[in-house]
Amino acid sequence: MEVLYKSTRNSDKTVTASQAILKGLAEDGGLFVPTQIPKLSVSMGELKEMSYQETAYAVMREFLTDFTEDELRNCINRAYDSKFDTEEIAPLVKVDDTYYLELFHGATIAFKDMALSILPHLLTTSAKKNDVKNEIVILTATSGDTGKAAMAGFADVEGTKIIVFFPKNGVSKVQEMQMVTQKGKNVDVVAIHGNFDNAQNGVKAMFENKELAKELADKGYQFSSANSINIGRLVPQVVYYVYAYAKLLQNEEIKDGEEINVVVPTGNFGNILAAYYAKHMGVPIRKLVCASNENKVLYDFFRTGTYDKKHREFMLTTSPSMDILISSNLERLIYQIAGCDDKKNAELMALLKSEGVYEITDEMKAGLDDFVGGYASEEQTKEMIHEVYEKTGYVMDTHTAVAAHVCKNYKETSKDETKCVVASTASPYKFVKSVMTAIDDKYASQDEFELLEELREVSQTELPNAIKEILNANILHTLECDVDKMEETVKGILGI
Ligand SMILES: *Cc1c(COP(=O)(O)O)cnc(C)c1O
Repeated sequence: MEVLYKSTRNSDKTVTASQAILKGLAEDGGLFVPTQIPKLSVSMGELKEMSYQETAYAVMREFLTDFTEDELRNCINRAYDSKFDTEEIAPLVKVDDTYYLELFHGATIAFKDMALSILPHLLTTSAKKNDVKNEIVILTATSGDTGKAAMAGFADVEGTKIIVFFPKNGVSKVQEMQMVTQKGKNVDVVAIHGNFDNAQNGVKAMFENKELAKELADKGYQFSSANSINIGRLVPQVVYYVYAYAKLLQNEEIKDGEEINVVVPTGNFGNILAAYYAKHMGVPIRKLVCASNENKVLYDFFRTGTYDKKHREFMLTTSPSMDILISSNLERLIYQIAGCDDKKNAELMALLKSEGVYEITDEMKAGLDDFVGGYASEEQTKEMIHEVYEKTGYVMDTHTAVAAHVCKNYKETSKDETKCVVASTASPYKFVKSVMTAIDDKYASQDEFELLEELREVSQTELPNAIKEILNANILHTLECDVDKMEETVKGILGI
């Protein structure tokens, strides 16, 4: 069945999947959503025998219906290959009574690789399908992980350029090094004097700027987005929830049809929205547990029905990829629970922009039944890493620890005995300082790079390639700019 895409702010027009991937964001500022969430057309019995790549095809073909089988398999095979350090691509690891779905085995050791290793191929395929002759300029705001993963995906991909903005003091040392050492002649990286939301707003403003689009077109360029608002990011993320369920079945950890809960450390709401799509495709998921750090705007939203980014301070935490006050992908859920009412959604989003606050109706609240919100303080996050390490020897990163704490707390308070899969979104090597300090305070004063070796010994795991690479790399990018100079900076880079 053909699946088309429409904007959350004006649903009159529809576009094909490849057009939605090319555009990234709809012209009215809305996000593309499928006209309906398709159902899986293969059984769990079949899925449990499948490789990651086969599962990816089974899931993605339901969403990207204007791609031919050849095109889609090609994209999948070029993405999920030896860039990943395990053939399983996304291994499911049982620790104590919890299953960790490790999404950090790709090129940049964070979960963004799951989607960003395939997006460049989906995008260049989409360009060919739609006769696009312009060079595609990927503009991305990052809280740390997206930027590097996007650059790694797009570096030297023919017909594309990529420009990444990151908050200067808002990412880890390892993340910063990963970005400023990125090779590729089509890659630029800019540190902005502001936080992630500033960067994201700046990028959104450029996407919505029609004059700028025209100036670009005159020079043979057009913007596209690699941020998690692109449907080409969202769809590949649905795959690993289907895969995780099939793996649990294959390992006889669950019975066919048995429900599971999924716990996701959340920032921009992309990863957990993919789990929601997986549920609606037919994966027996009971609760979608949305885990926040101290920037708990989503926790408060699920509790009260009010989304309020205004009356709170932005916090810098040890899980920086979740330091977000505007979770862009939530708009897709808001639209869904408003009964696909584009006017209602547009009204709420306008309120968010002008007032920094909106409240959903009681009717809409009922649509949130699938979700549970939770959060972990900095202290609880640290304790969680420590506790699991002491008990089992398993070392997790800070983002995963936020989810693990929320998972534990949910189990204790709800008495829900459904088995839980925690999305493990980064390698502990990426956040080595916070992780090692959680294991033992004696590491607090040590240099981040020295600690890599300590972590290797403590966790008895190999140093990932992504880390080995930055140890000897040269700094190639030193550009910085103020929040209000982002457009100028982009023009400078493109020479327009
Ligand atoms: C991006 C990221 C998240 C948040 O994912 P969203 O899809 O933005 O909710 C969590 N953990 C890590 C390590 C990330 O890189």
